[in-house]
Amino acid sequence: MERGTFLEVDLKKLAENSRRTMELCAAHHIEVLGVTKGFSAIPEIVRAMADGGITKFADARLENIKLLRASGFLQHMTLLRIPMLSQTDEVVFYTNASLNSEYEVIEQLSSSAASVGRRHDIVLMIEVGDLREGLLPEDARAVMRRVLELPGVRVAGVGTNMGCYGGILPTDRNLTALCRVAEELQNIAGYDFDVVSGGGTSSLMLAASGEMPAGINQLRVGEGILLGTDTTHNMDIPWLNQDAFVLHSEIIEVKEKPSVPYGETGLDAFGNTPVFEDMGVRRRAIVALGRQDSPPAGLTPFDPGVKILGASSDHMILDIEDAERDYRVGGLMDFRLNYQGLLNICSSKYVRRIYKNKA
Ligand SMILES: *Cc1c(COP(=O)(O)O)cnc(C)c1O
Repeated sequence: MERGTFLEVDLKKLAENSRRTMELCAAHHIEVLGVTKGFSAIPEIVRAMADGGITKFADARLENIKLLRASGFLQHMTLLRIPMLSQTDEVVFYTNASLNSEYEVIEQLSSSAASVGRRHDIVLMIEVGDLREGLLPEDARAVMRRVLELPGVRVAGVGTNMGCYGGILPTDRNLTALCRVAEELQNIAGYDFDVVSGGGTSSLMLAASGEMPAGINQLRVGEGILLGTDTTHNMDIPWLNQDAFVLHSEIIEVKEKPSVPYGETGLDAFGNTPVFEDMGVRRRAIVALGRQDSPPAGLTPFDPGVKILGASSDHMILDIEDAERDYRVGGLMDFRLNYQGLLNICSSKYVRRIYKNKA
């Protein structure tokens, strides 16, 4: 039996989630970019997504894309985070396309691409309400005209973000606004765009209900495929698996203790003043996991009777008084992860990974 703190990854469930997402989208003429940033683009997991039918990938970090290239992935890759001016040579070398909102950066991508005789695809990000990256619709035309003059780059289409900064939901209204900008820019360009990219996981719901505006032909999906959840709509996606990732952590202490600390009160290890409710003496467990691996808010115990009380850098404290199982020192506690938890756990060098159902 595996011991310690480790992430168990069910590759078959990930492949299933990939396939179901692809099929749903294909039925509405939407292509899927498989987004790999949620798990630091670990090659075994990317392979499972490819087994599930994903043919194009995207990541926010160039480091992750470089790792995939070094691991032999030749697929189409899009850089999701608008590029830094300082990385345009590498962006052109390692990726096929990037999302962009700054003319100055596109101009430099153009020089980087032209100087090595390559063509780099640009997706112009358009602001339609969530207020993260993106050109205001009224500024997009001028940028389109200027980019048409640049060698080495080609506007492959437009895109937008939803539910990222502003928590704005994708709707027929804001995605139709994106399609309208796409039409205007295509008229200026004089050719049809390859992509009108309508967001990420939070846009899947519109596709599933058949309400996606017809002009949208691409989604960039991470969370749904990985976790089967849609945080922006605060729901599980019923046709996807929610348990492809399970975090296990070994129990290192089990004791009955008072629920309120005693002695003179200062600040906790992170400079906060902790507040406690007096629930009397309760049974508690400590697991070999802490904030260095993930903030407590990133994890949820599978056992509904277990509650996370708090965590310091290396210890996580759980109330197990009402637990369904009898937890002992040396046993394992199982956690479900949210996107934040998955991001953190996959970048912790202290958490091993175990793969299940390898193809
Ligand atoms: C992270 C990211 C996505 C994927 O979002 P999910 O909610 O994980 O599907 C899509 N587009 C951009 C620009 C991103 O940064």
